[in-house]
Parts: sequence; structure tokens; C-alpha cells
Amino acid sequence: MIISVASGKGGTGKTTIAVNLALSVENVQFLDCDVEEPNAHIFLKPRITIRNKAYIPVPEIDESKCNYCGKCAQVCAYHAIAVLPGQEGKKGATLVFAQLCHGCGACSVLCPQNAIKEVNREIGVVESGTCGEIEFIHGRLNIGEAMSPPLIRQVKGSMCAEGGLSPSGNPKKTVIIDAPPGTSCPVVTSVQGSDFCILVTEPTPFGLNDLILAVEVLKKLAIPFGVVINRADLGNNNTDAYCTREHIPVLMRIPFKKEIAMAYSKGEPMVNAFPEYKKNFLDLFNAIRKQNSAQGRIV
Ligand code: SF4
Ligand code: SF4
Repeated sequence: MIISVASGKGGTGKTTIAVNLALSVENVQFLDCDVEEPNAHIFLKPRITIRNKAYIPVPEIDESKCNYCGKCAQVCAYHAIAVLPGQEGKKGATLVFAQLCHGCGACSVLCPQNAIKEVNREIGVVESGTCGEIEFIHGRLNIGEAMSPPLIRQVKGSMCAEGGLSPSGNPKKTVIIDAPPGTSCPVVTSVQGSDFCILVTEPTPFGLNDLILAVEVLKKLAIPFGVVINRADLGNNNTDAYCTREHIPVLMRIPFKKEIAMAYSKGEPMVNAFPEYKKNFLDLFNAIRKQNSAQGRIV
């Protein structure tokens, strides 16, 4: 079963839920897909044993073959190529803006002169290791790099390679994915393929607004989901009212406690500082299994 943990808004406690869930159930593979700012390792403290640089293929133009027809610039949806045609006997130029390139390969396939070859551009690193029984994988995007989805896909690619697949093609382990915050491409890339998504929120107007956006994304992706309300005793009841109205299960509530915040600030997982919470996370896991089982999905 693949469980992703997401939130429409940063700072709701998404990583806290992902990490403590991973520490509460058995046979887990943990993927930190928040590659712009991975921080699950601060709590899980894995022993990293494998480091692989991550690349995307970007075009390189062979000026001796290029006739400046402009087809590559036309096909590029990301405006990563500009073609300046030659004029009055002067040579033109085909410019590649590698930082904008998503590595889709369309330009090299469609170039009629076969003037484009792909070269690797480093965007970050995928690191993997172990934390006790937990298999840990995360990606680190290079500073200033904007292309997080290709790196997220590489982190998720490691899931199949290292977690292994059952004969039915499903990962043998319970895979827990810590997704980036928000509702844009990196989140969609992270949660796609999940059997269930936990949406972490807080009972504030901002929290509710971003929860509603995240719910819309998951409905479009047809991924079953439920809500965990963090700092549940702060704010107002609007989040509960929204979940009731939309028939969204509230799977767990975590109260606001100074002691939990203090443990967090020291990089100590909640279930280690307060072992009584382990049962709550186990209940959360079982509630997800039950809900997936009722819908005839993987458990
Ligand atoms: S499609 Fe090929 S030939 Fe045409 S401008 Fe681009 S690189 Fe040059
Ligand atoms: S590989 Fe795709 S994104 Fe990159 S320049 Fe070519 S068409 Fe544009």
C-alpha cells in the first residue's frame, strides 16, 4: 500500500504525521519527496549508504546541422528554446535555456535536421539508506534549481527498485510518501499512484482554504483521502464543518501541546517523546486500511 501525506499549505505538520506513522507501523519504506526542503531525515536520522546524482536530459544544438527552421522552439511548451533566423547572409542562432527545459525530449525527436542531441544536466541527488527497519529515500534539489518533478520521479523510481514489487506489481512494503506542500506540479507528481492520501491541515482560515484546494486536486486524481487535523484545539470549527459537509473522514486529531512542539524543535519524533501516541498512529493506519479494503483497493 502506498500512502502519501500532503497538505495544501506548508507548516501544518505534514512531515510530523509522515514520520510518526512510519515509526508506528512495520515494514515501511519512507520516501521524502519534498525535494526542495527535505526534512524527514532530521527526525528519522537515517544512515545514508547510497548517493546517486540526478540528471535531466536537455538539448544541445549542433550548429553545423541546424538550419534555424524554428520547429524546436515551436514544439517546446516551456519556451526553453529560441531560434533567431539568419538574415542578409548572417548566421542565425538557436539558443537553449537549460534551466527552463523539462527534459521532455520533444525537440530532439522533431528536429528535421537531426541537429539536437541530449546531454545530462545535474539537478540534485537521490540518497537512500536505513533508519532501523525503515528503508529511507529522499531527494535533494540543487539550490536555485526549479525542476523538482523530474527529481521527485527519480525518488519514486527508487521505490520500485529498492522496495521491490509483489507479483501483482504492487510494492511489498507499506510506502509512506512525504509530499511537498501546496497543490502544484510537485505535489501531483508526488501523490500520483498513491492508494491513499492523508491531508494534514490546521483549523484556521488559511488552513481550510488550502485544504479545499488540496481536496479538489485529489478528487481530480481520483485518489481516496482523509484529513488529519493538527493543533486541533486551536482556531475554529469551520474545518470540521467542511469535512462533515463534504463527507470527508477526519482520521485523527492532534492537540496543540507545548511539549510536542518542544520535541519537534529538538528533532525528536512525537512517538519517541510520547510513546502513547503510537497507538493513535496505528489506529490511523488501520483506519486507512479499513477504508481501502471497503473500497476493494490494495491494503
Ligand atoms: S528544429 Fe533542428 S534544425 Fe530546426 S531550428 Fe531547431 S535545432 Fe535547428
Ligand atoms: S526537451 Fe522538451 S522542454 Fe526541453 S527544450 Fe526540448 S521541448 Fe523544451
